[in-house]
Order: sequence, then structure tokens, then C-alpha cells
Amino acid sequence: MITVENLTKYFGNNLVLNNLNTVINKGEIISIIGPSGSGKSTFLRCLNLLEEPTSGKIIIDGVNILDKKNNPNRLRQKMGMVFQSFNLFDHLTVLGNLTIGPVKLLKMSETEAKAQGRDLLNMVGLAYKENSFPAELSGGQQQRVAIARCLSMHPEIILFDEPTSALDPTMVSEVLGVIRRLASDGMTMAIVTHEMNFAKDVSTRVLYMDEGRIYEEGTPSEIFDKPQKEKTREFIYRIRSFNYHINDKNFDLFDLKSGIERFCTKHFLDSRSTLRIQLVVEELLQLCFFEGDRDKRNHHIEDNGGLNICISYSEKNNELSVEFSAHKSLVTILNQVENTDGISINILKGIAYLSETITDDRITLRAVIS
Ligand code: ADP
Ligand code: MG
Repeated sequence: MITVENLTKYFGNNLVLNNLNTVINKGEIISIIGPSGSGKSTFLRCLNLLEEPTSGKIIIDGVNILDKKNNPNRLRQKMGMVFQSFNLFDHLTVLGNLTIGPVKLLKMSETEAKAQGRDLLNMVGLAYKENSFPAELSGGQQQRVAIARCLSMHPEIILFDEPTSALDPTMVSEVLGVIRRLASDGMTMAIVTHEMNFAKDVSTRVLYMDEGRIYEEGTPSEIFDKPQKEKTREFIYRIRSFNYHINDKNFDLFDLKSGIERFCTKHFLDSRSTLRIQLVVEELLQLCFFEGDRDKRNHHIEDNGGLNICISYSEKNNELSVEFSAHKSLVTILNQVENTDGISINILKGIAYLSETITDDRITLRAVIS
């Protein structure tokens, strides 16, 4: 239905959409998630030409809508858009908001437009409000009118830009309920949202956007239950992390420890967790730098790009972990605990679940703190 090719948008020197490619098929319900500023709104606004893309193609039913010789207004009518801030016509009644478009643009008769408007109000549960003005309605009601108004133009796809984020929490579900209803009626939709549970159960596909690109996409269970790429994981699990790089054995241990302490304070970790992180880090350092064949080990670390320490905390599942990663020549060293007195490894095993992975030329030792 819609094919997006190499869509790029600059605001001045700011690259906001970076060569974005995707296809939206009829009947799909696509959720677009990602950190704020990643270009989600700009993407929707480019799709229906509220913003002019810098380059690329948007092909709808075989026609490139960015091609100047095609009529953008006719093509735009195939798309409805629902905004965070409702954007109703304040001087018109609820029913007036639903009839103006069909009468002026679709050349529908006034009678026909009113009949259609009442049907739509019925569908969104607001038949009794047809003579009210937008200012007399709650936010949730205004947004339901905005959705009805959008439907009054018979769009083939509806683009929603954070339709519930301006609402009082008590009104979110009435609006999501209407969107769910449209989904079950088979409407094609693209929805930018922060409502992760909603996105998970309503959508057929999820796009995770970061830095103006579709960074990862998949089914809801692929994205929400087992995201593959680092930034998606950080976003989904609301991971906060602290990174520290060590280049040689004479690193500043006090600086590292005070960094860990600041991180823990900032994220309100309790003193037990803070102590455990410090202990895990110290024992891992012990294994990496001080036990076994010490000189050999120091050379391994110093000659191969150093050691990265990453402490992360997931706000979603409360998981706390410490990762050490280094060049894979350290693999034998991290494994050679038999050569040591075993104290460090036993302390570690008592408070953390240890696992090791090797990708490309790096080895990562992960300790999940229990
Ligand atoms: P999101 O919806 O993911 O939060 P936006 O698409 O709103 O992201 O914004 C992406 C980037 O584009 C931001 O850096 C924002 O400041 C910039 N931006 C958005 N709209 C405009 C505009 N009209 N003029 C200049 N910069 C803009
Ligand atoms: Mg936005």
C-alpha cells in the first residue's frame, strides 16, 4: 500500500530522517516506538506531506506522492492523521467538525454528511454530544471526536501521533478502546505511541526508531520479548548504564568506585545492591588483573584495547548486571580460575549468575546480580 524508499529529511543541518525504508501493507497495524527526538513525528508528517522530505520516495498505490506532477491533495486524502493535541475546530460543534470535510472536500450533501457523522459519533460512544463544542468535552472525548472526524473522510490508512500522551491517565483507555475497535475492523494504521502494552497487543508489526532510522523491526513479541539490538534492548527494558574503560593495570580504582557509587545513587539503588555491584566489580578485577600469571594477563589487556566495564540496571525487570568485555585473547584467562586460589570465583558465584559470550573478537563476561 505504501512504500517508503530512502526517505531523508533535514531541518537545516539537522539530519532527522536518515535514509528510511519500509513498506506498509493493507490491514497492517504498525506501532512506531523509540526515544523522543528520534524522528517518529517527522516520519508521520512526511508520510502525509505535512513536512516536505528532503529526498526519497513515498509510493502509494504505485504513485510517488513526492513527484510534483501528481496531485498531493488527492493522495493526502487517502491518509488521515490524529494528533496528540486533537486539533479540532473550536468554533464548530462536534457534528460540525464531522461534516465540514465531507461536504467541502468529498462533495457530500449536508444530509448525507450529518447521517454519516452521527453514525461515527455512535461508534466512538459520543452520540449524545453532537451539539457540544470541543471546549465542553474532556480530552478523551475530544480525541474520540478527532478520530471520528478522521474517519469521516474515508481514509485508507490512519496515522496516529501519540494519540494519548496529552491525556489525563484516566482517559487513556477510552481512546485506546476506539483504536482497538478500528484495528479489529481491519483499518490500516501506523501509531506512534509510548503505551507499550497497547502496542504489544494491538499491532501486527513494531518499528523501533533511533537516530532517524528504523533501527530494528519485528513482530510485537520479537521486539518486546527478545529485542536483538543494543539500543532496542535499552529502550524496551529501560536500561540505565554506567560504562568505564580501563587501559592498564594502574587504573584509578577510587575513580571507578566513586563512579559506581554516583550511578547507584542517581538510580536509587539500595545499599545492598550497591555493595554487591562493588563486590562483583572488585572480584572480577581481581580475576582479570591480579590472579594467576599476572604479567601475561596485564599484557593481554594492555595490548588489546583494554577492558570495558558496564554496569546496567533495568527499570523494567529490576535486573542488575556487571559486564566485563575485552579482546578474546583473554578468554583463557577468564576461564583459568583453576590456577587461582578460587576465592574470587567463589565469592562471585555466591552473589551472581555468571555467563560468557564471544562475538567477533571480543569476549564478554556477564554477572547478573541476584
Ligand atoms: P519524535 O517524534 O521522535 O520525538 P521529532 O520527529 O519530533 O521526534 O523530532 C526529531 C528531530 O527533529 C528533533 O531533533 C526535533 O528538534 C527536530 N524537529 C522536528 N520538527 C522540527 C521543525 N519543524 N523544525 C526544526 N526542527 C524540527
Ligand atoms: Mg513526536
